[in-house]
Amino acid sequence: MPTFEYAPAPESRAVVDIASSYGLFINGEWVDGHGTTFKTVNPASEEVLADIHEGDASDVDLAVKAARTAYSRVWSRMSGADRGKYLFRIARLLQERAREFAVLESLDNGKPIKETRDVDIPLAAAHFFYHAGWADKLGHAGLGPDPQPYGVVGQVIPWNFPLLMLSWKIAPALATGNTVVLKPAETTPLTALLFAEVCQQADLPPGVVNIVTGARETGQAIVDHPDIDKIAFTGSTGVGKMIARSIAGTRKGVTLELGGKGANIVFDDAPIDQTVEGIVRGIFFNQGHVCCAGSRLLVQESIAEEVTRRLQRRLATLRVGDPLDKNTDVGAINSRAQLDKITQLSEAGEAEGAQRWDNGCPLPDKGFWFRPTVFSGVTQTHRIAQEEIFGPVLSVLTFRTPQEAVAKANNTPYGLSAGIWTDKGSRILWTADQLKAGVVWANTFNQFDPTSPFGGYKESGYGREGGRHGLAGYLKGSN
Ligand code: NAD
Repeated sequence: MPTFEYAPAPESRAVVDIASSYGLFINGEWVDGHGTTFKTVNPASEEVLADIHEGDASDVDLAVKAARTAYSRVWSRMSGADRGKYLFRIARLLQERAREFAVLESLDNGKPIKETRDVDIPLAAAHFFYHAGWADKLGHAGLGPDPQPYGVVGQVIPWNFPLLMLSWKIAPALATGNTVVLKPAETTPLTALLFAEVCQQADLPPGVVNIVTGARETGQAIVDHPDIDKIAFTGSTGVGKMIARSIAGTRKGVTLELGGKGANIVFDDAPIDQTVEGIVRGIFFNQGHVCCAGSRLLVQESIAEEVTRRLQRRLATLRVGDPLDKNTDVGAINSRAQLDKITQLSEAGEAEGAQRWDNGCPLPDKGFWFRPTVFSGVTQTHRIAQEEIFGPVLSVLTFRTPQEAVAKANNTPYGLSAGIWTDKGSRILWTADQLKAGVVWANTFNQFDPTSPFGGYKESGYGREGGRHGLAGYLKGSN
């Protein structure tokens, strides 16, 4: 139990103005879609926030036509320096409206305001600033003297970092001279729709950015559209595989950022209190809805009991509840479907013989919630050691030698992220070298920066986002 209580410190939601319904953003304007509508809800209260259009194939076609016209008539003819000016403008507007974006993201996604305010929105702006700087320097990126954009790019993103994933997609695409049709996830469309307003405010030429809301079928219509030159997808491995299959044999380019089951490896010489903070950041940040989460803790056997004990003591102090409260550490699970998936996999963990522990905190009556949970005694064959839970659930496994740690860390179809905790630089380098993961953090976890490429191996996908490498994904023949 927490040793002391905090008085509630709610962020005001008066700063956001949510319409009762939204159209699609096509060619710089709001248009009514031809399809049906669906509702987006606040997962912390189940309150309906707005009616959202489900774009159908004809809506996607309109958006692609707008993007094609904008590409050939305006955007591809503009100098890199001028494109950069628009990106700088968008970045500054995101900063100016940061509070509004942070509150809206917390309402629609359920993540704590502390994270939207300090992580999601500043990083989204940073991605635009960073890529604005590249727009007139592409010939110096080591990708050939005159690298060329694809043209029209279709982008489909998930719900766990809605605005941040949008910025990972749109900023590099625009900097490299492409135009885009983007579909946000069905449970978190609101910040993408507010971003459309920012595009208008920045006087971005119509058609350069088009936002078509919807679910699976809208995403499929984007993937299948014959006049799209490249698909950039972030989401689950299952859907990524389907997209790869439907694109195979076409001229379309593709990058896929998919799931993960990251290993966070703790050696017996690690500083334990610092490591415990890193473990918490690795799996309880953003309710564990993080593709690169450190969801498997691999801890050296001699210190396993001590680490687990200190971790549980720390987890007892996590505050779960109202996402708009500035004291909240863990917010709501994004949807009932995701809560069901987390619940089901946790039940499988117990049924297969792992020991379940949670922090016993009270949960609100309404909304979708899950207590920070730790499974110890997990073996490699358990489903909770193999499958992505995508929730605040940690699986603890042990190892005796560095070789065993590496073998266990790599024993997954995924290859997105890993962490190493040790006092020895040589051990960090040796271990990092053996790990099949796109990102390896040492004595830290879940740190992001637009200058650093991010992406996976194996079933975590291919292509990189961020850094110089990320530019290649939007330039023909570069990746
Ligand atoms: P998801 O695959 O169900 O959905 C992702 C997006 O794809 C949504 O916008 C959805 O509407 C759309 N979609 C669904 N079916 C489609 C289809 N057949 N064709 C085209 N689009 C389709 O994933 P999710 O549950 O929204 O997100 C969670 C997953 O995303 C996790 O597996 C997580 O690891 C992964 N993720 C990966 C990264 C990364 O950078 N590697 C980042 C964030 C999330």
